[in-house]
Amino acid sequence: MLLSVIIPMYNEEELAERTFRTLESVLANVEHELVFVNDGSKDRTLEILEGLLAKAPGHTLINFSRNFGHQAAFSAGMAHAKGDAVVIIDGDLQDPPELIHEMLIKWRDGYQVVYAQRRTRKGESFFKKLTASWFYRILNSLTNIEIPVDTGDYRLMDRRVVDHINNLPERSRFLRGLVCWVGFKRTGLLYDRAERTAGVSKYPLKKMMRLATDGITSFSSAPLKLSFILGLITTGISALLGLWSIAERIIHPATTSQGWASLMLVIVFLGGVQLLSVGILGEYIGRIYDEVKQRPLYILDKPSKENSK
Ligand code: UDP
Ligand code: MG
Repeated sequence: MLLSVIIPMYNEEELAERTFRTLESVLANVEHELVFVNDGSKDRTLEILEGLLAKAPGHTLINFSRNFGHQAAFSAGMAHAKGDAVVIIDGDLQDPPELIHEMLIKWRDGYQVVYAQRRTRKGESFFKKLTASWFYRILNSLTNIEIPVDTGDYRLMDRRVVDHINNLPERSRFLRGLVCWVGFKRTGLLYDRAERTAGVSKYPLKKMMRLATDGITSFSSAPLKLSFILGLITTGISALLGLWSIAERIIHPATTSQGWASLMLVIVFLGGVQLLSVGILGEYIGRIYDEVKQRPLYILDKPSKENSK
């Protein structure tokens, strides 16, 4: 049994070595390979990883030609992982690697996906916790697949699950959703998420929003329906208003010159609804455009280095 552990790294020079050593000691009794993905770091991350792996045979280092993002890094890792079971984990060790042993027990019990579910999360702003908890609940109410709430990417997957995900043709990869989409028997493990011990979060609000829209639009067309429903409602209201204004014109011909505020309101409101709907359409068209272009998910800087044992 070989276990692959995939670790994305973006500007993690303060943590790279500690992460490597911790994983090595936690996994000392398990036959494993580490697959580091350097996601276009601008600091010394690559150099440090190369140094560490030069001395440790059996691991893989994948180096992107630029920053392609966390989800692309996981995809690359999954394409290179050779294990019978594959774990994906963040490089900052906010998720306790010791949990891998429990994951393996569940895996041996016959679960093909074992995801880690956050019971608490430390050291994250109130805003991040609140938006994250909303996000999972909105996502679940909009999509028809069951994405467990409060799970990150930290999870173990069986070889079969990984193969199926690797074979999915889509470019926009919201991994947590894809794993649920492929199905198989899955279970969760509760854990407490620790603080980052060094460095800062590489997920600014902009990237979080991107991930959230990716998640929703890749798994649900509910926003499109929303604009249809908004359209229906405003058409209904405008029909009633139309009837009312005709009646008003007939009954009180003298006062119909008034009504600047109501006109303004209608114009502004309809303008808002229309732009919103066009925006939602645009989001989906942009996605179709991305898929049609068929660009690769990531580009490797040089062939990945696999130093065999
Ligand atoms: N990461 C990455 N590419 C990016 C952003 C982040 O590979 O563009 C990596 C990062 O190095 C870390 C993991 O993804 O190992 C999770 O990032 P982070 O800890 O910043 O996210 P947070 O825990 O704040 O959600
Ligand atoms: Mg983190």
